[in-house]
Amino acid sequence: MVIYDLICDSRHEFEGWFNNSDDLVSQQEKAILRCPVCDSLEVSKKVTAPKLFRKSNSTAVENPQQRQPVTNLNAGSVEAYNKLQGMLTKVHEYIDSNFKDVGNKFADEALSMHRGDKELNNIRGTATANELKGLAEEGVTALPLPDKPVDKKKLN
Ligand SMILES: [Zn+2]
Repeated sequence: MVIYDLICDSRHEFEGWFNNSDDLVSQQEKAILRCPVCDSLEVSKKVTAPKLFRKSNSTAVENPQQRQPVTNLNAGSVEAYNKLQGMLTKVHEYIDSNFKDVGNKFADEALSMHRGDKELNNIRGTATANELKGLAEEGVTALPLPDKPVDKKKLN
């Protein structure tokens, strides 16, 4: 599974989830790859490097063969897509108001709490693939966050 940053001819940016790079080409050829905002079929890949998660500090993928739980955001029904966007908005609102943003110190903070050096707290932040691997080895689970939903009002 790979995720590409895509962009349409009206410069709407969105993500497309594909089985592999051939899948992207095949969806373009069959004209089933559409911009979720304006329905344009003129969609192209924005960057060349595929990635599995959006992590601000990292584009490295630890194990390209590792399977991730995924769903299709763009190719499903509009109703399901809109409902899911609404839920993702709620998830982000909840996290924003209940988890302290520690930025790029996430791994350090999580580890300190895990080792009992710091009081337990709800935190959010960014982590590199290496940091996540280190945390996992210590028995700390970090949950990758889904992207914030596309704000159609802002795009238009
Ligand atoms: Zn568009």
